[in-house]
Amino acid sequence: MSKPKIGWVGLGNMGTPMVNNLLKAGFEVNVFNRTKSKEQALVEAGASAAESPPQLVQHCDIIITMLSDDAAVKEIFEGTNGLLSKPQPGKLFIDMSTVAPETSCYLAGICARLGLGFIEAPVSGSVKPAQDGTLIILVGGSAENYEKAKPVFDVLGKLSLLLGESGKGSTAKLAINYLLALNLQGLAETVLFAEKNGISKQDMLTIINEGACANGITKLKSTSILNDDYPAAFALKHLVKDLRLAKEAGLDAPLITPLYDAFNKAQQAGFGNEDVMAIKKYLESNQ
Ligand code: NAP
Repeated sequence: MSKPKIGWVGLGNMGTPMVNNLLKAGFEVNVFNRTKSKEQALVEAGASAAESPPQLVQHCDIIITMLSDDAAVKEIFEGTNGLLSKPQPGKLFIDMSTVAPETSCYLAGICARLGLGFIEAPVSGSVKPAQDGTLIILVGGSAENYEKAKPVFDVLGKLSLLLGESGKGSTAKLAINYLLALNLQGLAETVLFAEKNGISKQDMLTIINEGACANGITKLKSTSILNDDYPAAFALKHLVKDLRLAKEAGLDAPLITPLYDAFNKAQQAGFGNEDVMAIKKYLESNQ
């Protein structure tokens, strides 16, 4: 069976390496990005570029969005020159952005009314797993559409899970990012406490990473902490959005409010475009 043609909207930190993997796996990929210059490297790697979202839909079987937030996704789907402006029944849309479960259900409803397939498939894993094709893909939608998308998911991730109807994938994504935020905040506070009391961050990170408290996050973020340099793999502003969405989706746990407040204040203090681990820099500047 021939491979479906893929349309991809959103070439940020995640979208770009994900498209690269689809190209390497032999998929034909048509890309569109608001800032056109970001399309260039992928065109050189074999992608074609669409002039507009409707043109991309016309040429592709499966259309994937990987955008910042709910507003961006809604604009790309429903805007005047959006993906749904010239609907062609039978196409499958996959939103891989992290958005509210409500937004995923809303888009699924609109697509169903237009005779289009839709599933949400946000991902767990940052830029490195996106580059390595080892993301964990959290799917909400029908089994039929999941099966159609599976060959694509098999390239982008090491695991994809159909979690139930629309909204379930996005809910699972907000849940895992709550744990991510807890890990980041815990790591930052622990290292800062040690440093303040005369223990070097190098020694503290060794104690953490050699012991039972080590995890993927503590290991992945150690270099940034040691160098005090936080280039965005996962921009802090996106985690603020995810914590806000988790609260709005009903997360009412003792730590969600202080956690959200800390990351939100870090964003307001100018750390939004740095990596999520820059929460340490923000906390340090407020000691
Ligand atoms: P990013 O680097 O900030 O890229 C965002 C993308 O959205 C860019 O292509 C941007 O276009 C586009 N965009 C934003 N607003 C738009 C609008 N109004 N209209 C059209 N396009 C718009 O984000 P990312 O890190 O790739 O993350 C993408 C999504 O995945 C987010 O929902 C994020 O929460 C989630 N996620 C990220 C990570 C991570 O580690 N980075 C991990 C898991 C999930 P321009 O290039 O024109 O700005």
